[in-house]
Amino acid sequence: MARVAVDAPIWGELDYASESTLAPGSVVRVPLGRHVVCGVVLAAEPPAHDARELRPVAQVCDALPPLGPDWLDLLRFAAGYYQRPLGELMAAALPGWLREHDADAVRRRWLAAAERRAGLRWELTERGRQELPLRLGRRSAALWRLASALGLAAPDAEPVPGNTPAPTSLDESGARRLHPRGAAVLREWLEQGWLRAAPPPCAPLPAALPALHEEQHQAVQALEGQRGFGVQVLFGVTGSGKTEVYLRAAQQVLERDEHAQVLVLTPEINLTPQLLRRFSERFPGQALAVLHSGLAEAERFDHWAAAHAGDARIVLGTRLAVLASLPHLALLIVDEEHDASYKQQEGARYSARDLAVWRARQRDVPVLLGSATPSLETWHAVRSGRYGLLTMARRASGALPQVRLLPSGHDPLLRAGGPIGQALFDAITQRLQQREQCLLFLNRRGYAPVLSCPDCGWMSECPHCDAHLVYHRTDGSLRCHHCGHRQAVPRACPDCGGLDLQPVGRGTQRVQEALAALFPQARIARIDADTASRKGQAEAGFAQVHAGEVDILVGTQMITKGHDFQRVSLVAALNPDAGLFSHDPRAPERLFAQLVQAAGRAGRADASTLGAEMLVQTAYPEHPLYQALQRGDYAGFAERELAERKRAGMPPFSFQALLRAEHAKEPRLLEFVEQAGELAAQLADGEPRAYPPVPSSLARVAGVHRQQILVESSRRGALHAFLARWRAALQELRGGVRWAIDVDPTEF
Ligand SMILES: [Zn+2]
Ligand SMILES: [Zn+2]
Repeated sequence: MARVAVDAPIWGELDYASESTLAPGSVVRVPLGRHVVCGVVLAAEPPAHDARELRPVAQVCDALPPLGPDWLDLLRFAAGYYQRPLGELMAAALPGWLREHDADAVRRRWLAAAERRAGLRWELTERGRQELPLRLGRRSAALWRLASALGLAAPDAEPVPGNTPAPTSLDESGARRLHPRGAAVLREWLEQGWLRAAPPPCAPLPAALPALHEEQHQAVQALEGQRGFGVQVLFGVTGSGKTEVYLRAAQQVLERDEHAQVLVLTPEINLTPQLLRRFSERFPGQALAVLHSGLAEAERFDHWAAAHAGDARIVLGTRLAVLASLPHLALLIVDEEHDASYKQQEGARYSARDLAVWRARQRDVPVLLGSATPSLETWHAVRSGRYGLLTMARRASGALPQVRLLPSGHDPLLRAGGPIGQALFDAITQRLQQREQCLLFLNRRGYAPVLSCPDCGWMSECPHCDAHLVYHRTDGSLRCHHCGHRQAVPRACPDCGGLDLQPVGRGTQRVQEALAALFPQARIARIDADTASRKGQAEAGFAQVHAGEVDILVGTQMITKGHDFQRVSLVAALNPDAGLFSHDPRAPERLFAQLVQAAGRAGRADASTLGAEMLVQTAYPEHPLYQALQRGDYAGFAERELAERKRAGMPPFSFQALLRAEHAKEPRLLEFVEQAGELAAQLADGEPRAYPPVPSSLARVAGVHRQQILVESSRRGALHAFLARWRAALQELRGGVRWAIDVDPTEF
């Protein structure tokens, strides 16, 4: 019998009959209803059952080594912590290709991938070490020559006291020299599970590593001394050379242990290519695997397999990579640890950053969290002494840009309806004369956030959402950025028939258009979700900027992250004030991080004659957030925000969960959340505190109404004990309302 977590969003595990004893972690295919689905064996012998009632396991993917006990523990922990079915976590963790193919296909692809990786060099597995001598017995001296070359002692050989044979590897041509069918024999043994890809010999390190500056040197030294679990926060300004510290930390670990694996997380797919380049240039002989949702399914399986087999020494990826199987995980690195995209926002809403810390503790290995603007949770942990702090306050080369705040209040150009004020116009003009690049960002794509009728006040609204339709001038459409609804711009006002419909507010398209009129000689490009919708288009746009073919780049926050633009000396944020007054308590933290990241794009090289500048066009230049930004004072900003959070009893001084519920029929939804609220009041017993149900910030999306209930406690344990009871009670409620619990929510 086997207890199996199946690839389906159902609660609880299922038992299946099995002739052989299946090791925990084995990947199987099992019948579920009229389908056959992927599953992972959790335990070989579940509590007694009448075996005749059980359906049998359909297939065992025995080409794969079983998933390790610490991987199973990770999944169990994440499922329990985030209040999701184990099968759902499994689906997020295992590549889709594996889940959708039968055992034979998996075997073929697994072996083919292993051969490609190994460069055809093999070594014995533990199973091979035990089973191969039994199979060979005293037959065939030729086969024994192969086995000896792989490190097995022949039965007749005199044991040399105190001299266990060193593990040895063999490639195909070596095998052919020892046996006429050597290559074929190796393949047979591989299929028996007796061989695995031998780790490539440690490639010689580059002769000349770049010199470290003093702060890098201190960080690297501090990490060198670290053994066992510990969280180190690498707090380094943009351009301070954090990646070099990651590379050195990885190198220390890889050199110490020939099997060690390093996991490197990065927030965005866009940022993986350049990080991958840095790592593959530094470790040319080491197998690297990449895991993110942009890979084709089969390709993602190959990379996942390299990590699971232990062959990939460095695994680089976005948040889903934190769930990869890494049997020799010895170091975790989370780059830009503050980034909101580490939190999954649908299905199993896990935080990859938090799971990385959990995995490090589980494996008793170090984890490094890097950021120029650590999350307040992380900063709080530093201040309370739980996390170590490594500071890098200076840039490796170039200087940090000067921040200038441009009041938008009485500016004549802005009052005339332009997107940029006089000061920004002058600054851009100067940069263009010097042949330096400018980067302008605002967080609104499209032409204008809404189309309006000045006669009657009509505004373009999505028929399916509580949101405005955004005017896209390029194709004359009105689009909803929440549900994708699209319609043609009406010729006249639908309410009063007025013909003078006006765009209100400003998106990237409109800013680009206005800049083209203001700077007719400049080459202006735009990068946002609209221009980057086709694959490779964003990269092409960035390549143009790098090549100096663009004078002014306009875009959304997509352009503010990660890129090392060598010729950009001016960055400007256009009216980012919305983040100051949002209903979302994390908005100021996000705004500060975003502005620091954006500023970080300027002055990466010493090329500028005018000095690098970050300009913020704002109606609130006196706001403490902008003042801290101008001083380059993250710590001051964080202290203020933390004090504010403490007063308000907000995380990290409390722990939260959010029940999110949705249904097309509002009365039914309201009935559900009312019942859920009553259940919470009964079950909570004073702790945690459950707030009344409220509409979500976007109360209707694609015709579906949304409500939420916030629960909050000063004790993590009390919150989680309550959530388990609440969830069980909610599952008893009927009415077809879709709901989910979001633990440690980051969006409201
Ligand atoms: Zn009208
Ligand atoms: Zn919509």
